Amino acid sequence: MTKYKLEYIWLDGYVPTPSLRGKTQIKEFAEFPTLEQLPLWGFDGSSTNQAEGHSSDCVLKPVAVYPDPARTDGVLVMCEVMMPDGVTPHVSNKRATILDDEGAWFGFEQEYFFYKDGRPLGFPESGYPAPQGPYYTGVGYRNVGDVARKIVEEHLDLCLAAGINHEGINAEVAKGQWEFQIFGKGSKKAADQMWMARYLLLRLTEKYGIDIEFHCKPLGDTDWNGSGMHANFSTAYMREVGGKAYFEALMAQFDKNLMDHIAVYGPDNDKRLTGKHETAPWNKFSYGVADRGASIRVPHSFVKNDYKGYLEDRRPNSQGDPYQIASQILKTISEVSTAAVSAAA
Ligand code: ADP
Ligand code: MN
Ligand code: MN
Ligand code: MN
Repeated sequence: MTKYKLEYIWLDGYVPTPSLRGKTQIKEFAEFPTLEQLPLWGFDGSSTNQAEGHSSDCVLKPVAVYPDPARTDGVLVMCEVMMPDGVTPHVSNKRATILDDEGAWFGFEQEYFFYKDGRPLGFPESGYPAPQGPYYTGVGYRNVGDVARKIVEEHLDLCLAAGINHEGINAEVAKGQWEFQIFGKGSKKAADQMWMARYLLLRLTEKYGIDIEFHCKPLGDTDWNGSGMHANFSTAYMREVGGKAYFEALMAQFDKNLMDHIAVYGPDNDKRLTGKHETAPWNKFSYGVADRGASIRVPHSFVKNDYKGYLEDRRPNSQGDPYQIASQILKTISEVSTAAVSAAA
């Protein structure tokens, strides 16, 4: 038997954006535990905005498990928060009720800032560094400093060792800003992995005395880019059948559901989706081929391939909840009939 360190990780009840929480319990198993072997656990919900003090027990239900490469015999356990009965989802538990479809693939591009002493890493104590231009995909101390790359590489290795589909890294447009991409099949699988990748980044940077700033526009109304979490998506139908008529019907439905999407695409998005800095205004839906100033960017490959493949919704922001983002995308897709389009074509 081996004593495993089980890190139970969950989303708290803070609004508009939940924070990650985690605590450890030690349990003995003959080998690396499966999801089914992991017991329910509890926590004090009155400290996480999930319960009143007089009745504060909440239940943690394991829903995904990954090896924890930062710890000897470590296990990362993604959990849903349940009511004391263990079966009713807590109101803060969005994962329990989202739409899912294993045939729907999601690729999230998580942008974020490294922060130190209350400002982006590499910013001088007062004023600003040289304007944006050389930082995006930049190299060299002048552009990326001396520690950011070390952290993103370490984070990449942790994600890969945990079995998370980390797909890539790039330095972003603003100084101190970076991106990583996570891909998953099914909304729960993709979003679980994104939350876990966020957790690993937050935990990793503790020892560097560096914070992760997920706010979508930390530098306000300036000439410094905000942070998004572009959601690339495709269903089996989009990849295998597609077609121009279906694509246009889909875009019309995205237009119609504009406010439902914006509602779950992350807080303060009106400050980021201004029409500047490669964004579209938040209150007007648009799409365009290879257009980084549109709400949805249609890759060249999509059009060339008879309107088959994936699309990029550029509106979700860095603080958005990938569970709710993926679910809203699936909801809008579900409202477009594939039968009607095929019959009409
Ligand atoms: P860019 O910065 O040019 O917008 P990235 O390379 O950062 O693009 O991100 C593209 C994302 O699209 C990746 O996360 C990738 O996993 C995802 N992706 C690629 N193909 C598909 C697909 N068929 N369905 C869903 N997502 C996809
Ligand atoms: Mn990208
Ligand atoms: Mn980017
Ligand atoms: Mn993108």
